[in-house]
Order: sequence, then structure tokens, then C-alpha cells
Amino acid sequence: MMVRRRTILAVDDTVANLDILIDLLKDYDVIEATGGVEALEIVAEEKIDLILLDIMMPGMDGYAVCRKLKEIEKSKDIPIIFITAKSDEDAIEKAYDTGGVDYVTKPFKPKELLARVKIQLEHQEMIEKLEFMASHDPMTGIYNRRKFFELASRKFNESSENLYAAMMDIDKFKKINDTYGHPAGDRVIKAVTGVIGENIDDGSIFGRLGGEEFAVVCRHPDQECVVESLELIREKVEQLELKSESGELIRCTISEGVAKVDETINNLDELLQRADEMLYKAKGSGRNKAVFRIR
Ligand code: GH3
Ligand code: MG
Ligand code: MG
Repeated sequence: MMVRRRTILAVDDTVANLDILIDLLKDYDVIEATGGVEALEIVAEEKIDLILLDIMMPGMDGYAVCRKLKEIEKSKDIPIIFITAKSDEDAIEKAYDTGGVDYVTKPFKPKELLARVKIQLEHQEMIEKLEFMASHDPMTGIYNRRKFFELASRKFNESSENLYAAMMDIDKFKKINDTYGHPAGDRVIKAVTGVIGENIDDGSIFGRLGGEEFAVVCRHPDQECVVESLELIREKVEQLELKSESGELIRCTISEGVAKVDETINNLDELLQRADEMLYKAKGSGRNKAVFRIR
């Protein structure tokens, strides 16, 4: 695995301190800011992994910057290590209360500063890994049920305009398992995931809802494009050629139920419910087809 180079934002009104920090943190990408406003601008633009934040600054002090960062979705989880010249307990207590994870004192003790930075970055990396595991299906790597509903609801609540939901389910999958074995079934699920993933737009929310059942929620101004891409997915799954352990050719098909938001649909659950009804129709009328509820 490639190790991503971490980016640290160092905020201090004294340029000499920033120079020392850049020198110490030579194993990291360091961006410098000499004030709170500038720091907030940088955080809005860049992907920052950790912030070293001076407390005593003219204008916006470190506490105010920290409070602001914690209010913003993009920056609320970035660890903040305060830089303080004073080591009085009240300042330190306030640093933690405001949302800081640690503090370092000036003049900097190089080894200690590096150790504190390193441990916070490791901590952050672990959280990211855990968050990924909690939101993705381990077998296919796509969103799990919980994350799918979270992101799809968010999308619906942003705007329901031109919003579609597609429910997809592998046909007679039990038979594939029974005929070729469970590991082959797993490979079919992964291959189908691949086909769907390659044929949906970047902003689409794509998740594995259960065993061999998938859902996509997407927004598109052109209905014809949505219909075509879903037909294309169905055709490409039909054309998949997988081999079983003993070399037999495995074929599979999927059924799709698709619904578009209209005035009768008030929330994501209702949209998915409609899509599910269409999927049921597709299953009941021969499978390997897409049924649309688009008015
Ligand atoms: P239909 O066309 O009506 O959808 O029939 P089906 O056989 O696909 O549907 P059913 O829901 O009866 O069976 C789904 C099967 O999928 C049952 C379950 O054992 C299997 N399954 C669920 N998760 C996995 C998995 O992760 N790997 C494999 N190999 N099989 C799975
Ligand atoms: Mg099925
Ligand atoms: Mg099923």
C-alpha cells in the first residue's frame, strides 16, 4: 500500500516559529499560515491532516480558530495540536475544552513535538480505517446498507429534483450457489458489482443492500441517459462470462426496478419502495429486465 504523504497546517503569527516548524517537520508537507483567517481559507481549499495552532495571535486567537474549525463539516475531525508559550494549566484546560487533542510548548522540543505529531496522525489514520470498515461492504468494497441509506437520504434532502432510484437483484442466484458453489457465487456478486460501478455516474450512491441485492440513487437531467445506462448494465451483466472452479461457464442476469421522484414521493424510503415494487414486477414477468416507473 502506498503511504500517503500527510499535510500539516502550521499556524503562528511569528514567522520565525513557522520556519522552525517547517524545518522540524521535513518528513511532511507543511503549509503555513500567519493568522486565523488565512488558516480557515487554507483548510477550505486543501486536504489537511493535522493542524498545529498557536494560541496567542492578534485578531482571531487560536481558540477562536479552533472553535470555527469544529463547526465546519470539512474540518471538524482534523486533529488540532495547540502551540502555547505559556504552560499555565488554565490555558491548557481551555485548549482541550475548545477541541484540541494535544498541545506543545514553545520553545519547541524537537523530539517531543515530532512524537506528538506522529501519534495524532496514526490515530487519525486508524479512525479513517475504522470509518471505512464501518461504511463499506468488505466483499465488494462498495457502501454497505447503513452508509447507502445515510448518503442517499442526504442526496434526497439536498434536492429531490431529477432523482432516481434503481434496485437491482441477481436472478435465481440461489441456483448459481447450488450449482457452482458459494465461492463462485461470491465471484458473481463481485463481477456484477464491477459492471454496475463502471456504468454509473461519479456522483451516484451505490450500495450493497443485502446478499445479491444492490441499489443506486442518482441525479440526472436527462431521463433517456438514465434509462440507457440501466439497460446497458443489464446487458453487460448478461454478457459476463465467469468460470467455475471446474471450468464450467457461469452466466447470470439481473432484474432492475427503477423509480423517479414525483409529487407522490416524499422521502427516500418511498422512492426505494417504488423501485422495489418495479423490481418485483421485473421478477414476476420473466426476470433479466428493467421495469421503470417514470412519469
Ligand atoms: P430471485 O431471482 O427471485 O432473486 O431468486 P434468488 O435465488 O436470486 O433469490 P433468493 O433471495 O431466494 O436467494 C438469494 C441467495 O443469495 C440466498 C443466499 O444464500 C445467497 N447469498 C446471500 N449472500 C451471499 C453471499 O455473500 N455470497 C453468496 N455466494 N451467496 C449469497
Ligand atoms: Mg435474487
Ligand atoms: Mg434476493
